[in-house]
Amino acid sequence: MSSTPPRVTAVDTYDIRFPTSRELDGSDAMNPDPDYSAAYVVLRTDDPDGHQGHGFTFTIGRGNDVQVAAIRALSHHVVGRPLDALCADPGSLNRDLIGDSQLRWLGPEKGVMHMAIGAVVNAAWDLAAKRAAKPLWRLLAEADPEWLVSQVDFRYIADALTPEEALDLLKAGRQGATDRTARLVERGYPGYTTSPGWLGYSDEKLTRLARQAVADGFTQIKLKVGADLDDDIRRCRTARAVVGPDIRMAIDANQRWNVGDAVQWTNALAEFEPYWVEEPTSPDDILGHALIRRGVAPVKVATGEHVQNRVVFKQLLQAGAIDILQIDAARVGGVNENLAILLLAAKFGVPVCPHAGGVGLCELVQHLSMFDFVALSGTTEDRVIEYVDHLHEHFVDPVVVRQGHYAAPTAPGFSATMHASSIAEFTYPDGEFWVKDLATTAPESTQAPESTEQNGAAA
Ligand SMILES: [Mg+2]
Repeated sequence: MSSTPPRVTAVDTYDIRFPTSRELDGSDAMNPDPDYSAAYVVLRTDDPDGHQGHGFTFTIGRGNDVQVAAIRALSHHVVGRPLDALCADPGSLNRDLIGDSQLRWLGPEKGVMHMAIGAVVNAAWDLAAKRAAKPLWRLLAEADPEWLVSQVDFRYIADALTPEEALDLLKAGRQGATDRTARLVERGYPGYTTSPGWLGYSDEKLTRLARQAVADGFTQIKLKVGADLDDDIRRCRTARAVVGPDIRMAIDANQRWNVGDAVQWTNALAEFEPYWVEEPTSPDDILGHALIRRGVAPVKVATGEHVQNRVVFKQLLQAGAIDILQIDAARVGGVNENLAILLLAAKFGVPVCPHAGGVGLCELVQHLSMFDFVALSGTTEDRVIEYVDHLHEHFVDPVVVRQGHYAAPTAPGFSATMHASSIAEFTYPDGEFWVKDLATTAPESTQAPESTEQNGAAA
């Protein structure tokens, strides 16, 4: 239509919240009543083929409006960008967003602003993959290693990983990639399930869901722990009795403990043979994780879903503080920074077992693990992607899990696109669900939040 090259014409944002706290889905020792939410962004374009870039970051309810405002604060960097240049080099957008010196003051490279950058950068990668007519994992796995290196920001990590080393890793990773692609397409990528183990579930529900997990072909489950030791002993005993000795059972404290408590508590559960203890303490405490790791071996130490950037991951690896590195697709600055983190993990030989669940985190992160298998680490040994069976129905290309394995996505893009009907129903507070809900929830009904016009009205 237009004679000028296609561009990003607008950045639309949506505050989408799901009322998951009603069923205690997602409850753990630190987060007893989450309402799983997405601060959602659409890069609207005048692409003649109609492609738009979808991205989001995940929050658990209150504050999702703050997250949306942070995404909106970045929009001037995106609107007007020519699509050909953006998709040929999403790293250019990543650098511009991280390099906004006034917004950088709010981080740097951490917290709400950095998660907003992640949402926007991921939306750009979704757009790039859609325009390339490839699922993102395949776009990355088939990309030229030099180009992938150009997408990584080595500032603050070059002491642990140089661009030359990254290039060597990626070149080595390409050997045998064709065979691994075929294996991935045939078998999928192994997953594990957290669904049985939410802290708010009864022992009866834990038993039923743990039995179901094994029947569904999962070889690992995870239990939330850390609120009450006697409860944890009883729940771990129950779960171990149900799944038997051959299924791996991870435990997750969601940052509940001090360093000493983490060692004692984990050792008190050692008889149930937990495979890893996840987020035993603050995600910022690198040396604390190193102490815990020494104190709980042979139980492995895992963390990462709240690790704010590649710099902290670098230090966790340098300090020998973790056995398992847990990337999150929507916590750090998007695909570019996760490439840096996957390369660091490969350099240090630490397996990556991504955090997922929430809203759409499974949809996103599967692409990163699949790229890692095909074209970087080259293995799925001791690697599993978290799986939680919530909220997938809101996505146009939801994950498919069969026999405990994620099927390789085939649709072009980053699997980030939500159904317009879901956005319309669950936008807060103006979507149909919340209008009804807030009207019937006394006494807050008289104090329902003001609606904001910019916020999700276009769905
Ligand atoms: Mg966790």
